[in-house]
Amino acid sequence: MVSEYLFAIVATMMLSNGLVLAIMSRDLPDNLRPAAHTWQAGTFLIAIGCGLFAIASERPPPMLLVIVNTAFLIGLLAYNRALAKFYGFKASNWLYLPIAVGAFSVFWFSMVDENFQARIIIITIAWCWLMLASIRILARPPRADDSISRRVLLIIFMIMAVFTALRASVFLFSPLPTDFSVTTGASTVNVVTPIFMAVLPVLGTTSFILLCSDRIRLQWEHAASTDYLTGLPNRRTLTQRAEQLFKTAGQAGAGLSVAIFDIDSFKKINDTHGHDVGDRALQHVADILSTHAGNRTMVARSGGEEFVMLLDGPPEQRLEGLRKAVEDAPCKTDGKVLPLTVSVGGASRGPSDADFSGLLRRADRALYAAKSLGRNRVEVSDPQEDGLAAAGPRAV
Ligand code: GH3
Ligand code: MG
Ligand code: MG
Repeated sequence: MVSEYLFAIVATMMLSNGLVLAIMSRDLPDNLRPAAHTWQAGTFLIAIGCGLFAIASERPPPMLLVIVNTAFLIGLLAYNRALAKFYGFKASNWLYLPIAVGAFSVFWFSMVDENFQARIIIITIAWCWLMLASIRILARPPRADDSISRRVLLIIFMIMAVFTALRASVFLFSPLPTDFSVTTGASTVNVVTPIFMAVLPVLGTTSFILLCSDRIRLQWEHAASTDYLTGLPNRRTLTQRAEQLFKTAGQAGAGLSVAIFDIDSFKKINDTHGHDVGDRALQHVADILSTHAGNRTMVARSGGEEFVMLLDGPPEQRLEGLRKAVEDAPCKTDGKVLPLTVSVGGASRGPSDADFSGLLRRADRALYAAKSLGRNRVEVSDPQEDGLAAAGPRAV
């Protein structure tokens, strides 16, 4: 009787958790909802399985064993499918195999040729196969996901896989009471089983909900820190990073430079070809700058048709190379070839720069000089100049 009560309790807990996920999933963004619904289906299936064990008599009829085990197997598959959807992995059709073999073996070894040991071995392999498939997804997520909830879920799946294997070995290698059945309290393992059965649908579902909320947080953070048109960091991200670099570069005595790139006569592109073409020209320049900048250089869109770059050394030669790269690669869009040029203002950190905004101001004045001197050129502010004094930029 003990484990029947336990099965009833855990089934209720699973259903409650599944319901919380169902309610919460209505608030999830569209891209997470399919994964949440699939996970929820898994939780409900396992809950139904436990519920059926709870209402069954001391010895569940063989047909019930087949139904419950099939529900558990499909539930585990649903968890795997949910994780595949969540991380954008392709679902593997191989996972229908453990379900088919597992369900058939329960049917065969309980209804046709009763053999408890064969049944336990095959069903354990099927469960572990399905759980290992989920472990594989959780262990190799795309680099973007470093959340604790993912690691917790991974550990939950691992514990469940180990428990399933241990449970089978106890059933196989220790003498069982004569009145043994997998749902009675006659074996300690049977009492522990419903508790462990609850781990994945209850704690796992909670972890999955946290996984979703972590993803939403990451999406918001990404949206708040990135420029939607070019995918580059935005002004806010750049300023935060620059202020940090300004401090560490100061401590390490390393060089820090900043450059502002402004597309020349961009308004004319919009006026002549329309805003959409203007947008593509902006994306084109963003691609060139980020491709040529290299790994150690941060490029951001600071607004409008302006880009800002943080460099870790004297900028002169590199800025000239970038200016030329834009000039040499006209934007081809809508069957048109649009020549584009940029004016560039650069500044290296000097003794007079108290903070990043002082450095940026000097770069801005150098940019202004580049525009006044005819555009499509690089001007670099003299680092010895006072940040607020006249720019005195040098041509490159
Ligand atoms: P200059 O050579 O002096 O920099 O001239 P300019 O025409 O490039 O500069 P101006 O400041 O006069 O015009 C900038 C234009 O950039 C005006 C604005 O409509 C356009 N712009 C700003 N943001 C966007 C955007 O996201 N998409 C498009 N298509 N245009 C934009
Ligand atoms: Mg501008
Ligand atoms: Mg411009």
